[in-house]
Amino acid sequence: MKIARIDQFFPRPRTRLVKITTDNGLVGWGETTLEGKPRSVHAAVEELADYLIGKDPLRIEHHWQHIYRSAFFRGGNVLMTALSGLDQALWDIAGKFYNAPAYALMGGAVRDRIRVYAHWGIRDTTDEGLAASKARLEKLQKSGYTAYKGGPGGKWRAHEPPAVIDEFVQRAYLMREWVGPDVELCFDFHGKMTPGLAIEICHELKGMRPMFVEEPVPQENVDALKQVSDHVPFPIATGERLLTRWAFREVFEKQAVSYIQPDGSHVGGISELKRVANMAEVYYMHIMPHCAIGPVALAACMQVDAVVPNFLVQEQVDRSLGDGLLEEEWPVVNGHIELPTKPGLGFEINPAEAEQDRGEYVEELGGEFFYDQDGSVADW
Ligand SMILES: [Mg+2]
Repeated sequence: MKIARIDQFFPRPRTRLVKITTDNGLVGWGETTLEGKPRSVHAAVEELADYLIGKDPLRIEHHWQHIYRSAFFRGGNVLMTALSGLDQALWDIAGKFYNAPAYALMGGAVRDRIRVYAHWGIRDTTDEGLAASKARLEKLQKSGYTAYKGGPGGKWRAHEPPAVIDEFVQRAYLMREWVGPDVELCFDFHGKMTPGLAIEICHELKGMRPMFVEEPVPQENVDALKQVSDHVPFPIATGERLLTRWAFREVFEKQAVSYIQPDGSHVGGISELKRVANMAEVYYMHIMPHCAIGPVALAACMQVDAVVPNFLVQEQVDRSLGDGLLEEEWPVVNGHIELPTKPGLGFEINPAEAEQDRGEYVEELGGEFFYDQDGSVADW
């Protein structure tokens, strides 16, 4: 069996897919969405296809090592996203070849279903804003979610006046009031805060017992992250922008967070997501794989969620559950998705929807963000 062709599709905003076809007709799918750099990843996949075509698709680890190491310059979000999507597609093919879910080839499932959380929050406190937020919560509650993630949103300067901080804190406590004590709430700071401001705001939140605060500060400085963790009496999480085991090493060794959030479409695919999770187990850190893109990426994450003991909860967004790209949406029941049972990544693609190119390169976290007050650059 050899890899015969590699095709790329762009069926939805924030969803790019790669399809590997073998000479005996097996097809594997992966997701290569990299918000803000879509054309770069497309070019990277084309370059890597020159190597992969004609090769045995079952030598997944060998190809991973070649793609990561042989070109001298390693890593970076463009290469790692391309490698991640290709790795996922190879696991999809391997599962279909052996007629087993990918997780069965990685030691077998350690759980029967996968807990997922939903994105929900109170963004504005006008009557209309509250009604919209309430309606979304009621819709999500029908699926039995037991955890929701919101965030402060907006642009945060190095420090803000009490009115700005209090406004977010009040919205957060209103969320707690609405969901009650049996549901967990998490808050994504999107790496927009300074350590000092993050610590100050986390102390305001501690009375409502958050499940975690995510990326309180940017990802590059592990000591800054540890500074926040050391001063906050509830779990801190990070990892969606950390690529490969080597990027996570310092987070582990410094015990800088409680939970990590590697992204199956950036960290290095299914192969590397599992390895990072296994490393994290040593440090008593659980994984909560990041997934804010499409359904193929979610399927890839779930293959690893199935086989690692230190899994806590899986992120997903509405589009991750299917978005018309899969023949069947992933159903969320009692806040969980049952383990996929189909071979490979566990879904059947809807080719009429998935195999198209919409060509819209807009509004994908790459826009222009400036502070209103002085026009200087703000973090997304
Ligand atoms: Mg995040």
